[in-house]
Amino acid sequence: MSEMIRAEQKKENCWSIEDLYQSDDLWEKDFESLAEDMKEIQKYQGRLGESGRVLLECLRMMDSLNCRFEKIYVYANQRWHEDTGNHFYQDLSARAAKLAMELEMTMSFVEPELMNLSDEQLEKYYQDEMDLELYRRKIQESIRQREHILSSEIEEILAQTGEMARAPQNIFSMFQNADLKFGTITVNGKEQELTQGNYIRCMENKDREVRRQAFELLYKKYREFQNTLAAVYSGNLSQDIFYTKVRRYPSSLEMALSGSNIPKEVYTQLIEAVHHKLPAMYHYVELRKKVLDVEQLHMYDVYVPMVHTVEREIPFAEAKKMVKEGLKPLGEDYVRLLEKGFSDRWIDVYENEGKRGGAYSWGAYGTHPYVLMNYQGNMNDVFTLAHEMGHALHSYHSDQTQPYTYAGYRIFVAEVASTCNEALLINYMLENASDDNEKAYLLNYFLDQFKGTIYRQTMFAEFEMIAHERAEKGEGITSELLSGIYYELNKKYFGEEMVSDQEIAMEWARIPHFYTPFYVYQYATGFAAAIAISSKILSGESGIVEAYKKFLSGGSSMDCIDLLKLCGVDMTKTEPVEMALDVFREKLGQLKDILLP
Ligand SMILES: [Zn+2]
Repeated sequence: MSEMIRAEQKKENCWSIEDLYQSDDLWEKDFESLAEDMKEIQKYQGRLGESGRVLLECLRMMDSLNCRFEKIYVYANQRWHEDTGNHFYQDLSARAAKLAMELEMTMSFVEPELMNLSDEQLEKYYQDEMDLELYRRKIQESIRQREHILSSEIEEILAQTGEMARAPQNIFSMFQNADLKFGTITVNGKEQELTQGNYIRCMENKDREVRRQAFELLYKKYREFQNTLAAVYSGNLSQDIFYTKVRRYPSSLEMALSGSNIPKEVYTQLIEAVHHKLPAMYHYVELRKKVLDVEQLHMYDVYVPMVHTVEREIPFAEAKKMVKEGLKPLGEDYVRLLEKGFSDRWIDVYENEGKRGGAYSWGAYGTHPYVLMNYQGNMNDVFTLAHEMGHALHSYHSDQTQPYTYAGYRIFVAEVASTCNEALLINYMLENASDDNEKAYLLNYFLDQFKGTIYRQTMFAEFEMIAHERAEKGEGITSELLSGIYYELNKKYFGEEMVSDQEIAMEWARIPHFYTPFYVYQYATGFAAAIAISSKILSGESGIVEAYKKFLSGGSSMDCIDLLKLCGVDMTKTEPVEMALDVFREKLGQLKDILLP
């Protein structure tokens, strides 16, 4: 496909970037005035203990500076993403990044000074300054971790350990992305280099021999370096446990969860719930084995598509119509906002030379959200549109309802709105599918998401939990230990019908996310919460649409767990995850009826 250059894009398909700044000159003016004005906040340095008035003024100025900065930063980067080869905007983006660091440095005194205020002092402040009440939650969020902050001398030393602590992650990433070479496999009679990038495509190859070769070669390589990789991962566990101890957290898991104030039960109940619903996964494995018509199902048979891709070209206008229809259960207001987003050009639709790949939703407080796409017209793109508009309308609702301080939402809930939209759209498309082939495609697409997001990420989460526990008990972390843990989990999650090839025991060694401890569980919880909510919406539960709107409007004005409770979803219990996996089971049954009549 011949690619057009940015200037050839039709205006109606480009996002209305002018809603941020009418011209680069106006951006320049804002940039300069912010660089000047931000110095002013330093007049509050060392004075937050003086009075409620001083604290209030300081927090207000901080919000105002951050908010102004957001617009500058978003404009520079979105402009750059339109064409990453454009040097002018590349430069703007770099300047915005530098300004970000300067702004952060200028305001860095606020947090430690807040920590030094006693509860009594703060209570008096709230009484003296009624308007300070707005910031109560924000202040509380800062001082919640107060007991884990150490004396300034120790904090200074700790700050200097950061680079050392990142060493295992850096070593792993260098090894994985720069040094590790796998060698070649034979594809269609030709030698082909196996890379990190094409491994998953090999796993999707219809030729089983290609899959087997790629699988065996990849893990053979990792096994050659097993002791090194175990030592690197062990180093990462050590640095994490070091901070856990120094900061006096009961465990590394609790340290990780404390950031968003997530109760430990959310983590353990997720694992528990998935364990309850493993039989559904075993049914999936059984179906796969029958559909692929193999004597034995191996680990290299997990990613090859079970159904034919639907080769239907969907024009963007039709995609918008499908999304609007699919999201009707969210109510008229929601659909009206979708239309507004479509007609007010929130979306940058098609690719052009140099445009950033993939898709995202972004924006600055005070203006509407934006969506970047590289729309090609296949079925996946329609889901991407629903997904990104989910993010966009989540931001829109929160921005409209919350003051700047609480408008942004946390990672734990970030994928709820996007996933909920996808689930509603799939439901609509299933009801309106033209034939069984299309139905099978949609069901398979949906099941793959459950498999990759709930089952796989929960297995990762369980692995992390066990590895950290063993390290915290002081056990030596060897490749043998890690591979043993991983192999047993893999067997447990896939069940008897799957041949648990020895090679898979080394999979732990290639997961970059393990270097950000206890992160991946949020993919599973976010997805499960979204499916639980979409089920309630589809079943027409009374009041759910209004409750969901409250959730969307909540930003970070409440804890993530409480925001979800607004929709009757309590992530400290197993119910939501089990409810989501019941949907998996139901859809699996439907796919089975089509593929094995
Ligand atoms: Zn997303």
